[in-house]
Amino acid sequence: MKPIVSVIGRPNVGKSTFFNRVTRAKNALVDNFPGVTRDRIFGDAVWNDVEFTLVDTGGYADDDQDLFAGPIRAQINQAIAEAEAVIMILDGKGGVSPFDRDLMALLRSSDKPVLYAVNKIDGEEQEDRLYEFYSLGIDVPFPISAEHGYGISDLLDELVSVIPTFRTDPAKEMIRIAVVGRPNAGKSSLINRILGEERLVVSDIPGTTRDAVDTICKVNQKSYCLIDTAGIRRKGKVTEKIEKFSIIKALRSLDRCDIALIVIDAADGITDQDISIAGYAHERGCGCILLLNKWDLVEKENNTAKTYYERLRLASKFLSFAPAMTISALTGQRVSKIFSRVDAVYEQYSTRIGTGQLNKILSEALVRNEPSLHQGKRLKFYYATQVSTKPPTFVCFVNYPEAVHFSYERYLMNQIREGTGLTQTPIRLLLRQRTGRIEFGKKKKERDPKKSRK
Ligand code: GDP
Ligand code: GDP
Repeated sequence: MKPIVSVIGRPNVGKSTFFNRVTRAKNALVDNFPGVTRDRIFGDAVWNDVEFTLVDTGGYADDDQDLFAGPIRAQINQAIAEAEAVIMILDGKGGVSPFDRDLMALLRSSDKPVLYAVNKIDGEEQEDRLYEFYSLGIDVPFPISAEHGYGISDLLDELVSVIPTFRTDPAKEMIRIAVVGRPNAGKSSLINRILGEERLVVSDIPGTTRDAVDTICKVNQKSYCLIDTAGIRRKGKVTEKIEKFSIIKALRSLDRCDIALIVIDAADGITDQDISIAGYAHERGCGCILLLNKWDLVEKENNTAKTYYERLRLASKFLSFAPAMTISALTGQRVSKIFSRVDAVYEQYSTRIGTGQLNKILSEALVRNEPSLHQGKRLKFYYATQVSTKPPTFVCFVNYPEAVHFSYERYLMNQIREGTGLTQTPIRLLLRQRTGRIEFGKKKKERDPKKSRK
């Protein structure tokens, strides 16, 4: 289940406007709650690759006299109980009302993280409307305009850093593998070899796109999903001639996979097309394993494999983290070893790094090698956090993200790799603008996310 984020607040503060802005409203589901005037609405949302379900609690009508009348109270309690985080919306135009205090008292008695958004602040010039909300004891009110979008991204950045990220039981989770490569590289031979020889339990299941059929196989008691392979497996002699290299098909598989097996015909040498396919896999953030296939055809002398690896590395520098191996789909050489590589890459690909460890690595990296000035001003790096896995994605707040040089960004990424041991997976570092936050190496004072949980 995705984490649930409940939106609560008194009538007319802008809850549904907020809900519509943040969710893909077309997926919204409506659920009625007995005794209240408006139904609850559920909608899926995603921010910085973190998925969650937003619930507009609906609630009570304007003329409800008592907020704590039975059904309303029950609904609010349920909204808090079932949520991983709560967003309370306040009305920056209407100001503080007694209802707000009652609601906040209720929220404070729970241990859920709560973010307070003061809505209808339609631009920076209206931020002085925030002041009266400090009187409620809110440490960090977020000024937003649900209608115009002002402040929403700051609020959501904070939200995804406090909600537990959607994760299913890793033991039950199936690793999804795409096999890509140019025509005749040996994709179908490899798949048939994997599915045939290993005496696997094989079953076909419909993929998510029309005409994609996936295959589940079991290796060493572990299930893997081979994406869009049923068609390849059945490919007969006739269609073999007809089937052209379909980039769209490859892209679709890459979009759905965790790990891409990039099959290269080693006998034919490494071509531009191989590299561009590897590039697609990289752009999509897949874990990648490079397979130099038809190794049986390659004439071997001393260090032949080494020479091939070097050539491959040189041509695909962007994939320097991806393990490479020589195999033969025809003879089966090393084919069984592919899955232990897949497991190793996947483990890193789905890893979560603690915020403490991450910030330690970054603050040390910043001290060792200071960023250059931006228009005479110092670049300041604030707090960093991992916002998602698959691939591990980190957000770091900076005062001028656009001024961070590409090479410096790469330096930081390498430091993260080194410090965390994420050496075989792609990682992402997103720089986001933020001012006035806790700078690395400075004492934490404002906006401690734990504080607003109370
Ligand atoms: P709900 O009852 O809490 O769901 O509130 P609604 O989303 O229905 O909004 C109540 C009213 O506030 C509507 O007339 C909205 O157009 C207005 N409103 C919502 N968000 C904003 C905002 O950001 N700025 C302004 N100026 N008005 C807003
Ligand atoms: P696909 O188009 O990528 O699916 O490639 P196929 O699996 O159809 O293979 C293309 C040709 O290469 C076929 O004639 C295969 O028999 C041959 N082939 C595939 N893998 C190997 C291998 O490891 N060694 C040798 N010698 N031939 C191979």
